[in-house]
Amino acid sequence: MLGPPSAGKGTQASLLSQRFDLLHLATGDILREAAAAGSSLGKKAKKFMDTGALVPDAIVIGLLEGKMKSTQSQTGFILDGFPRNVEQAKQLEEFTDLDLVLCIEVDFNRLVERATGRRSCKNCGAIYHVMHNPPKQLGICDKCGGPLYLRDDDSEEIIRKRLRTYEDQTKPVIQYYESIGKLKYVEGEGSIEDVQKKLLDAIVEQWPQLKDAAYGPMPVKKPVVSAPPKPSSQPSQQPKPQHGQGAPHGGGRRHRGGRGRGSRGRYFGKPGSKGSNKQ
Ligand code: AMP
Repeated sequence: MLGPPSAGKGTQASLLSQRFDLLHLATGDILREAAAAGSSLGKKAKKFMDTGALVPDAIVIGLLEGKMKSTQSQTGFILDGFPRNVEQAKQLEEFTDLDLVLCIEVDFNRLVERATGRRSCKNCGAIYHVMHNPPKQLGICDKCGGPLYLRDDDSEEIIRKRLRTYEDQTKPVIQYYESIGKLKYVEGEGSIEDVQKKLLDAIVEQWPQLKDAAYGPMPVKKPVVSAPPKPSSQPSQQPKPQHGQGAPHGGGRRHRGGRGRGSRGRYFGKPGSKGSNKQ
């Protein structure tokens, strides 16, 4: 899931992950978690995030790898906000072929308004907007009762910088996925439900067999399960396809190198060393 900052990637990816039982991996959330935990990588990352720049690839990829190892999903994942530059896209290609790249498009000026009105839950990461999607009680998360806050990087000055970063570094990635026929643009104006419907339409256009899952009632959300530690000799768990062949199950099912996501191997490698860098 790609798109400019505050296009609604997080909200939309979260709904899609719930519907299709996919693991939602948002690099922005992972970085914010690390920063809040005060780890040294998290502290370094925050310095870049606070200026509207991208966090160095090694930090993002290291944290993403850690998250993938500590969580299990039988059905695949949605990457939200990754890859964000060409180098990350190359490293991701070493690990997996993405099934589909969805790019949410929103007018530049609307993005600034959306970002500055956005409020996030400190506790569970749920996203609100003071005007368009307010919580029932001011400053309190509807889902978990946690406090809502304005992200440090959602000030007008920083959001403008983030938009420039997007133009310079992420647009080329989007153009690349478009050139290889993997990309679908979805117009991100309108309500959360409207945009979700457009995303589901794009998914069904790609995989008509997902029609029932896409338009049926939303399944009840299952908690994310932490993977128990495994001895390194134990074979990795095989992912279990659920929606039929060709369905959007990125990751475990199709990644190169034959490892499941619960394995202890390295997920991303250096470009140009395909197949030899998964140890
Ligand atoms: P997001 O929550 O996706 O808007 O991301 C917030 C910030 O986290 C971005 O402005 C970047 O500083 C950083 N970030 C998120 N994902 C990435 C990524 N894939 N590569 C580098 N930096 C990232």
